[in-house]
Amino acid sequence: MSKLSRRDFLKGAGVAGAMGAFALGGAGIAFADDAPAPAEERAGNPYSKVLGEDANMLPLRNAEFPGPHGPIAFEDREIGEEEIASTEDTEVLIIGAGIGGIMASLKAAEEGARVLMLEKMTEGRSSWESFGATQATFQKEQGIEIDDAQLIDEILRASDWRADPDVVTSYVKHSGEMADFWQAMFDKGGHGWEIYKFDQAPNYNGFPVIDSYVNFRMPEGTSNTWLFGLYVCKELLGVGEAYDNWEVRYSTPAVQLVKDGDRVTGAIAKNPDGTYVRVNASKGVLLATGGYDANPDMMKAWVRPEDYEYSSWWNPSWGTTGDGHMMGLKVGADMDSLPQPVMNFSNATPSTFVEKRVYFPGAMNFGIMVTEEGKRFTNENNPRQYAGNAINLKIRQGHSVFTIFDEGMIGSAVESDAAKGQLDRDEAKGHLFRAGSIGEVAQLAGIDAAALEATIAEYNALFEDGVERDPEYYRYTGNNKPFTGGTYYAMVTTNVVLATVGGLTINANAQVVDTSGNPIPGLYATGNASGSFYSGNYPRHIPGTSVGRAATFGYVAADHMVNGGQA
Ligand SMILES: Cc1cc2nc3c(=O)[nH]c(=O)nc-3n(C[C@H](O)[C@H](O)[C@H](O)COP(=O)(O)OP(=O)(O)OC[C@H]3O[C@@H](n4cnc5c(N)ncnc54)[C@H](O)[C@@H]3O)c2cc1C
Repeated sequence: MSKLSRRDFLKGAGVAGAMGAFALGGAGIAFADDAPAPAEERAGNPYSKVLGEDANMLPLRNAEFPGPHGPIAFEDREIGEEEIASTEDTEVLIIGAGIGGIMASLKAAEEGARVLMLEKMTEGRSSWESFGATQATFQKEQGIEIDDAQLIDEILRASDWRADPDVVTSYVKHSGEMADFWQAMFDKGGHGWEIYKFDQAPNYNGFPVIDSYVNFRMPEGTSNTWLFGLYVCKELLGVGEAYDNWEVRYSTPAVQLVKDGDRVTGAIAKNPDGTYVRVNASKGVLLATGGYDANPDMMKAWVRPEDYEYSSWWNPSWGTTGDGHMMGLKVGADMDSLPQPVMNFSNATPSTFVEKRVYFPGAMNFGIMVTEEGKRFTNENNPRQYAGNAINLKIRQGHSVFTIFDEGMIGSAVESDAAKGQLDRDEAKGHLFRAGSIGEVAQLAGIDAAALEATIAEYNALFEDGVERDPEYYRYTGNNKPFTGGTYYAMVTTNVVLATVGGLTINANAQVVDTSGNPIPGLYATGNASGSFYSGNYPRHIPGTSVGRAATFGYVAADHMVNGGQA
């Protein structure tokens, strides 16, 4: 196990040491006992002077990480020439075949460049249901009005203005063009895929409702789930196959970047047989490796403990181990400051994400959240990341959290096989309780029954009395429902981690920038490998910026590599 001192890790110079630790296939980072710093080091540290010799300014809470451990590919070592079995040339090299990589590969191929896309896992895919875009042709044709200034402002506001305004503006400016290209690629596939408007609730609890949400129409029989992303990626990869200047290789992770002087000229990848191949890319390399939610060491080092320690996970890919982040840092890239933001939502049980028909727009949205004390603690309709943070606060204080809903709230969803299956599975695991009365369900779940009865009576009174917003947590009654009886449900509720969304800093062209803000020639990043866009948490109330920015900056990077003077 590699040891580095806490002091080393927190210094900028610690990054190289940290990479060494990550590269040990996920061996835990251990912090050596913090011996006092040498006198000459202390002299340059104003903080230790303020607090005195013995004070520890930087306590770190060591939290358990309950998430997955994916296969880390980054190698922080000199790979000898004798280990390189072959060298190949391409124009555009794309690392990672999620949505950002796929979109970039198609744009580069369409622009006539020779493209090679490397994917670590056995297939290229990512899971999601929608994305964000503005001023796309279909939106204009349908008269959908989106205020771009409001969209830019809300993204910046949600990041506390830590996002780079040029990057945010570039996303907004290019997302429509990218969406048109996306539809053109669907048309090329010829299977009838279509993008169209995603209808949103008219009221987002005081947060602006921006109409830039985009959904998909799948060809009949493709799937009955709503995780369109899996099928969209498959369709687009099929479109790629039609180009003779386009190639994807699976089970072939990039392990490090190659630099010649200041310029990134390619990457070294590991073939399925364990040999290495050097790929020279004359027009550029795109890091599209996603986040690091399946890398326990990075999560512990870069993310707030409460953002993961009580969560369940639902990213079926597990390829997201921060390889791109590490490869970029190794060649001098800058990254978002710490702690980095996570996409964590309130719609989960301790085992997984809750099936859409159970939470949206139904039971979990209409229900109330209480602790075992039977009392509410937040506005349940806040955007999921904020409701999720409120849940984490309660769990951190030793409470359990339950979503309480009834038959009227779950409505006809309960008749669907998918929703029924979720409820049955959760019941079998002890994550869902149902009964014919509030008292009984409270008893089954271990909630204070009298308090829950009082809470529900109080909640129902808001509707009877026509109160617009509840006086405690300011939840609107207009788009909610009172409890009407029948079967009552208590669902054990946690957050679910879907992705990390902090990464390498980029500019408006998706070029990775160094610590002085200068582009590293030849190197680009998109999606969750890239940064400059979020801070705090992922702002779920702004439509689909995650897939939106991955696809948009993939598109922008490819365009810049091929047409932007990068030859
Ligand atoms: C259940 C779920 C629902 C979601 N719903 C939405 C939604 O509706 N809208 C939205 O905007 N976002 C949504 N998200 C988030 C969204 O899925 C991600 O933010 C998005 O997929 C990021 O795209 P990406 O291209 O950056 O990376 P990814 O899609 O994660 O792809 C990265 C790829 O790179 C590969 N890779 C990693 N390292 C290497 C390497 N060294 N060499 C080669 N390949 C490598 C990985 O295996 C992976 O295939 C959802 C996420 C989940 C889990």
